[in-house]
Amino acid sequence: MTKNQKIALGCGGLGCLGLIVLVVIGIGFYFYFQRSSFAYNVNRSSNYNLNTNRNSNSTSSSNTNSTSVASTSMSDDDQHKLFQAASMTQDTELMHRVWKKLGLWNEDDTPAEGYGAFAKDHILWAFKSVDFIQSVNTPEKARAEVRRQAGLGIKFIGEMALTPKPGPTATQMENLRAIVDESKKAGVWIQIHAVSPQAMMAAVDAGVPKLVHTPHFGWLSFEDATRVAAAGVKQLSTIGFGVPVFGVFANDNKPRFRDGKAWPESILDGDGRGQEAGYKAVNARTSWDAGVIYGYGTDTGYEPRAGLEHELKTLNLMFSMQDIIKLMGPNTASYIEMSNDLGTLEKGKLADIVLLGGNPLEGYWNMLNAKVVIKGGVIMVDKR
Ligand SMILES: [Zn+2]
Repeated sequence: MTKNQKIALGCGGLGCLGLIVLVVIGIGFYFYFQRSSFAYNVNRSSNYNLNTNRNSNSTSSSNTNSTSVASTSMSDDDQHKLFQAASMTQDTELMHRVWKKLGLWNEDDTPAEGYGAFAKDHILWAFKSVDFIQSVNTPEKARAEVRRQAGLGIKFIGEMALTPKPGPTATQMENLRAIVDESKKAGVWIQIHAVSPQAMMAAVDAGVPKLVHTPHFGWLSFEDATRVAAAGVKQLSTIGFGVPVFGVFANDNKPRFRDGKAWPESILDGDGRGQEAGYKAVNARTSWDAGVIYGYGTDTGYEPRAGLEHELKTLNLMFSMQDIIKLMGPNTASYIEMSNDLGTLEKGKLADIVLLGGNPLEGYWNMLNAKVVIKGGVIMVDKR
């Protein structure tokens, strides 16, 4: 497997000047990470099982298909906890039995009608239930998962989420320190999801080398940003998070959040009126001015070119085009530890080049006007 393939495996094709859809991969990893390594608290006889306390009809019909009754008597939160707990076992038979109980899986082992919507909601639930998910993890399991992923040739592991408000829990920090220590031994990079200054600084103090996001719950102080730079921690932008999206989901000129729902109401854990957009933009400049190696990342799941445009439009608020070229080029290459191969046009580096149809120094919109795409010296796209 080539170096590029390993990185692609590890972080989903992150490339300089490329479109980075880290959030989608982060969530994928988040579930994969949770599901694959922490398979110890859910078994047929402990707390989230079919036979005792979670299934109000457990005594009478726990092993038969009293699905609708069981799921309707459970709160939404309990259904998601059960779904999560079963998923973490990696035991397909047990997972299907639980999903049947929840009315999400058919007897012929196919997804029931509501499975898709539930699974989608589960992603949002997981982000709001970090405490629950982390409360069933241990440093030993975390270390084992780091070793397992390193064994697969994955170089970039993450993103692990830390509770932003009021801040990371003691369990999270204990697991994080174990993950950081084990990642150094295994020679892999850990990336962290920290969207408040307190979570970000806790991650930096725990020795985390890479931050996937710029915080949006509170102001990052220049002193703290200077500490991040001094620790050599690298960070990605993803600052379009709180900024309304237009024209991607509908041409009705209505502001929307990245999931297509109403802005600002749908912003994840938003504190109101999209203030997250303000925090992110200013905090980005604070990191930059403090000397943090600050690269490019989006936090979107919609059409990549629209995600690029949205992030560039937001960066344009606080950065000059000269800054943005450095941010997307050498800084992002540095974030993925590929400065020897990518990031600048220099003799001996990979000939991965995008020729634009206009001068990017005149405006970010010219960065959307790709005319020729060259990979390894070979023209892949030619729109001249
Ligand atoms: Zn994230």
